Amino acid sequence: MQTGFNMRTSTSETASPAITFNDPWKILKSRAYNYRFNINTGFFARWGAALEDDPYRSPYGPEIADIEISTICGGVNGKLCPYCYKANTRQGKNMPFDLFKTVIEKINPHNQLTQAALGFGATGEENPALWDICAWLREQNIIPNGTVADITDATADKIARYFGACAVSSHFLTAGNGLCYDNVKRLTDRGMKQVNIHYVLERETAGNAFRVLRDIKEDSRLAKLNALVFLSLKSKGRAVNGKNFEECRKVLALKNGECPVFEL
Ligand code: SF4
Repeated sequence: MQTGFNMRTSTSETASPAITFNDPWKILKSRAYNYRFNINTGFFARWGAALEDDPYRSPYGPEIADIEISTICGGVNGKLCPYCYKANTRQGKNMPFDLFKTVIEKINPHNQLTQAALGFGATGEENPALWDICAWLREQNIIPNGTVADITDATADKIARYFGACAVSSHFLTAGNGLCYDNVKRLTDRGMKQVNIHYVLERETAGNAFRVLRDIKEDSRLAKLNALVFLSLKSKGRAVNGKNFEECRKVLALKNGECPVFEL
């Protein structure tokens, strides 16, 4: 049996699985591929014909989707981030609700999807269709998640209502640590239990990473943080000269392929 949040995709079709919902469990049963997903906690367990089996892929379609619904962003503190791998700008585009539905319906033929990670800008309000999208996903017991950087109280209310998990990006280089910590608190104050910090680790941010680790113990704004997730910088978009995972390995003395997640 395999547990966690892994993404598997489908390349072959078999007979329809039996998918049921027994609150809070979304349950898929078939001969050689089975899962249970807790829509409240995100707990996910997958197995095959026997509990010991971990199927290589879902034969029915993806378990998780990751979809950018906006390329609009005004950046942080009024400045577009020079390291934005998505190269988002104020003149970007939004995915309309109908197109989003079409995409999901194509990849979700059995309602086997469990989660949808939605991509947008810093405020979470760039695409006005976001909240209709979230409500529609929830109706099908597909849990929306997302990443923000600088949200209002009103947006935090909506995120706490709809999202299962929310990450807050650290923009230490352009905004210091306080902006991130304030936003973490804004979400955990509303009862969210799966709030993580996403921290890009490379030469310029490595020293501050240790400061964040200390702050997790000492700063009350982070008292209910779920995890600090270190990421490498994608060399795309405005981060074409970005550093690679080598920097992370040097700082944390990691072995090849390891990715650090500090459970708190
Ligand atoms: S890195 Fe994030 S906050 Fe910065 S411009 Fe890109 S999408 Fe916006």
